[in-house]
Amino acid sequence: NKIIIAIDGFSSTGKSTVAKQLANYLGYIYVDTGAMYRAVTLYAMQKGLINKDDFNKEALIYQLPNINISFKFNEEKGFAEVYLNDKNVEKAIRTLEVSGFVSQVATLLEVRQKLVEQQHKMGKDKGIVMDGRDIGTVVFPEAELKLFMTASAEIRAKRRYEELIKRGDKISYEDVLKNVKERDFMDSNRKDSPLVKSKDAIEIDNSKLTLEEQFNKILQLAKM
Ligand code: C5P
Repeated sequence: NKIIIAIDGFSSTGKSTVAKQLANYLGYIYVDTGAMYRAVTLYAMQKGLINKDDFNKEALIYQLPNINISFKFNEEKGFAEVYLNDKNVEKAIRTLEVSGFVSQVATLLEVRQKLVEQQHKMGKDKGIVMDGRDIGTVVFPEAELKLFMTASAEIRAKRRYEELIKRGDKISYEDVLKNVKERDFMDSNRKDSPLVKSKDAIEIDNSKLTLEEQFNKILQLAKM
């Protein structure tokens, strides 16, 4: 019996890592909804609609029908990569610059409506693990298993920093920590679909868990 697994939580809590592990193990589809908000943000940056001084919200809303986001499974990597208008943007959306703008783009109701509708359709056959901020509350309130991941901001920033350094980005730990805290704040305080723990979600604080411990704990929950 296939189910829907919704994984929500703050930035860089390792949602996608555990979601990928679970999807591979269970033979489910994995969908990274953060990648979708990041892809819309990248589009806005490429069209000059957002920069550090200005955000042309009306123009972005007007251009939403021109934005096509899709996923294609990468056999080698073992997960689906995100495409913006048929171009693979999996790497381009992970920069600290995109991270700096994405929470502003994610406040727009029109952007959220478009992406939530697409996300909801992806779950029609169940057998899906989806991670984000509003999956258990808005996209799949009916999900059979809901997880809410947490860890201290410092631990999350350290993990994200190490990931970015490994890919060769030139950034400082302080900047990553600042971005993590800013996104926590914006995601929790926006008007539409703010990041909150669904009351039936199980909270997992992974500050002190190894990846293996975390995976086993969640797998047990998925089998119940
Ligand atoms: O998960 P990730 O950190 O890549 O998400 C990037 C940003 O996209 C979040 O900080 C949040 O602003 C937004 N987001 C959202 N709703 C989701 C997923 C992501 O608002 N379901």
